[in-house]
Amino acid sequence: MNKLEKFEVDCLVIGGGVSGIAIGRELSSKFDNIFLIEKNYQIAQETSSRNSEVIHAGMYYDQGSLKSKLCLRGKELLYHYLKERKIEFNRCGKYILSATDEESETLNSIYENGLICGVDDLTYDNSLKSKYPFLEYKESIFSPSTGIFDSHSFIHSLSRDFQSQGGNIFLGNETININQSNEGFEVLVEDKNNDTQFVVIANVLVNSAGLNAVHIANLINEDNVYQEEYVKGEYYIYQGKEKLEHLIYPTPTENSLGLHATIDLGEGIRFGPSAYVVEEIDYSLSIEHKLQFLKAVQSYWPGIEEEDLTPGYSGIRPKLKGVSDFVVDSGTVNNNQYVNVLGYASPGLTSSLALAIEVSNRIELDLS
Ligand SMILES: Cc1cc2nc3c(=O)[nH]c(=O)nc-3n(C[C@H](O)[C@H](O)[C@H](O)COP(=O)(O)OP(=O)(O)OC[C@H]3O[C@@H](n4cnc5c(N)ncnc54)[C@H](O)[C@@H]3O)c2cc1C
Repeated sequence: MNKLEKFEVDCLVIGGGVSGIAIGRELSSKFDNIFLIEKNYQIAQETSSRNSEVIHAGMYYDQGSLKSKLCLRGKELLYHYLKERKIEFNRCGKYILSATDEESETLNSIYENGLICGVDDLTYDNSLKSKYPFLEYKESIFSPSTGIFDSHSFIHSLSRDFQSQGGNIFLGNETININQSNEGFEVLVEDKNNDTQFVVIANVLVNSAGLNAVHIANLINEDNVYQEEYVKGEYYIYQGKEKLEHLIYPTPTENSLGLHATIDLGEGIRFGPSAYVVEEIDYSLSIEHKLQFLKAVQSYWPGIEEEDLTPGYSGIRPKLKGVSDFVVDSGTVNNNQYVNVLGYASPGLTSSLALAIEVSNRIELDLS
């Protein structure tokens, strides 16, 4: 058998979704020799292109949690970046509705939690009925700093930044295995473009492999204690004649922020995402969940009929069993440093620029 070619790099990022690209961009000012590998033939083909494209305000997450910290900082950085780069967004605001007295209590705790976390622009607003008479609810709060944006242009812009700062992206390159040596992490890569394999020796290894991140973390360090849980969410597109200018969210459920009505930048309306645990990564829509989906929408928009909804798309949340927060797990093996980004589900798009700074700070800290 031919001996595998070996390349030495300062830093290798695994995964070309929004987290890997934002992290690579941030680290490219720190490392001269930085590479990012992505198993697909294009960047951002998995969770980063299968979501609601909402800029979250940050009122749902526990005070002091990583989600709270990164969402709040990420939101500001993201709006600033979008404005500076002239990438389309709409700070349209969102309403969260309660349907029962119990949900009104939950709504109030979201309002209070927002205040504690520093989201101080929330208001109770019952004027919704005059704007949208087809909606039914008990109470509603309004979040003016929630918005929507063109996430594809955003990710591609980050990728251009990364490459113009000297970063290299290899598409169709999949991490197969990782060994530890004194020289660095020895990452076995399969180049699917020409069916060859090679080894990258990296001093710093960042694992931002999304749905595959727990598996990669196990290759980096056997002591990894995290277990993944995939929570699928489906979307349906609204075909009726009503219009919305705001996002409409029900009260959140355990696994999701609720099956909401989201407007897109072209003023279309889509509903979703639903939330159910799956074992495999399969993005096809399951028609047997459609009636349940419809019922959830009808709880706040009773006039919706089954024929108003056509199948859209799905995404899968890369959650961790028993852990609701993001996890940025960093450490060293043989003096070489790794960072695992785990459980990076919603609000991961919103938080991406702040996540990149967090990862960069960890590397500084552990190398000093
Ligand atoms: C249904 C849904 C709705 C959401 N809505 C929102 C929202 O409105 N607002 C918000 O802020 N966030 C939202 N999110 C969260 C957000 O989409 C994610 O947090 C974010 O996209 C995760 O990005 P990532 O780069 O970590 O993962 P990914 O986008 O999955 O990227 C990981 C990449 O790693 C690659 N990879 C995996 N294994 C390997 C390997 N062995 N070798 C090389 N490459 C590999 C994959 O191909 C993939 O491209 C939503 C998520 C879901 C599922």
